[in-house]
Amino acid sequence: MKFTHFDAHTHVQFPAYDVDRAEVIERAFNEGIGMINVGSDAAMSRHAITLAHKYENGVYATVGLHPSDANEGFDYEAYKTLAQDEKVVAIGECGLDFLRITEKTEIAQDAQKAIFLQQMKLSFEVKKPLMIHCRNAMPELIILLKEHKEMLVPNSVVHFFSGTAEEAKELLTLGFYFTFGGVITFVHDYDEAVNTIPVDRLLTETDAPYVTPVPHRGKRNEPLFVLETEKKLAELKGISEQEMAAQIIKNAEKVFSIDLSA
Ligand SMILES: [Zn+2]
Repeated sequence: MKFTHFDAHTHVQFPAYDVDRAEVIERAFNEGIGMINVGSDAAMSRHAITLAHKYENGVYATVGLHPSDANEGFDYEAYKTLAQDEKVVAIGECGLDFLRITEKTEIAQDAQKAIFLQQMKLSFEVKKPLMIHCRNAMPELIILLKEHKEMLVPNSVVHFFSGTAEEAKELLTLGFYFTFGGVITFVHDYDEAVNTIPVDRLLTETDAPYVTPVPHRGKRNEPLFVLETEKKLAELKGISEQEMAAQIIKNAEKVFSIDLSA
């Protein structure tokens, strides 16, 4: 099947889709939307892989430990086994999330950094890019990436980029790609960052079941709605929706080493 749109960061393996998972994927496929189901802990990473294997192509997986789940602990060898699966296209979501930390901040931050570095090492070992989650910690993340540049796999991705235009420039220099989700359809906070990033470094995502875009606010999100984000990105970059879609497919094929035209 040929895919013409791409949801680079979604979670259809999550329990939110237990009742209608196949239909959700079918609705996306009917519009030519391929997807990556992103792991957030060991169980969700395994579910993402199992789901990907149900489809010949167009459904991929990542394996990783979300910083907010860092207390689960990172079993390097177990994740390495998962990471070698042919359907796994990236390591993550991993990164730093200082948004919800209130107590014992320093310890929690150090633990998150240590677990992120292990995933950076895994990404380097299996030669698959990082899928980074970062909230309220962009300066710290950039410092870590620079300090360990020798382990940074080219064409890594920052998902739901929420940093400044300056930070976007630093990440561009490090070779990063950026996915944007539904939030750009209802706030303007990210317009400047989007304008800073060239179209050949952009990807689209839903982060479903979270952050539903306009005009579907209030409903559960799903990969189908990535079309709204793609439309908004095209508008912000001043190109047609068709051009944006074609560019996104090209970028996704390059970053994740997949063939979406087969
Ligand atoms: Zn996510």
